[in-house]
Amino acid sequence: MFRAIGNILKGLGTTLRIFGTVPNQTISYPEKKRDLPPRYRGVHKLRRYSDGLERCVGCELCAASCPAYAITVVAAENDPEHRVSPGERYAARYEIDYLRCIFCGECERACPTDAIVLTPNELPPFISRRQVVMTKEDLLEPYPGGDPPVFKMHPWDNAPDRIDRFPIPEQQRSMHGD
Ligand code: SF4
Ligand code: SF4
Repeated sequence: MFRAIGNILKGLGTTLRIFGTVPNQTISYPEKKRDLPPRYRGVHKLRRYSDGLERCVGCELCAASCPAYAITVVAAENDPEHRVSPGERYAARYEIDYLRCIFCGECERACPTDAIVLTPNELPPFISRRQVVMTKEDLLEPYPGGDPPVFKMHPWDNAPDRIDRFPIPEQQRSMHGD
């Protein structure tokens, strides 16, 4: 018992000794934000091709590769008259559960069309479980010419080997009316 009291007094002594000597590390998040390292990766985005078609073809490889089972993909067949993606299928439903996600980037690596990418944006503060499960509407890039992107540009977005690295095949462009 005396040893426990001694340890408490020792801890209090350490607190008193450095009290006022260490700058305050607390910030008023989310009004104020810390500078993040340049290689920080946060919430994802689902990218489009430059003509507006969604890159995601609903293959579910991202979901299969996710070690945290954070991704849900429900695919649907494309209607050739009203194509959503250049593939046979598109993601009718796409969700990421950020209570599960560990931001490992495996989904980004598994995606054959560079559709899902991690961005440098922090996960916004949330107060309910619904807010932390982001849907396709939350994640999808806006249609070209539409509203400005919600997300900051990914640093690699303008690299030539990422934009249209998987261009739409000619026959599918003609089906799309391009
Ligand atoms: S970053 Fe990792 S944990 Fe998060 S959704 Fe992608 S694969 Fe899953
Ligand atoms: S994001 Fe990529 S890996 Fe995931 S379902 Fe879409 S195309 Fe497949």
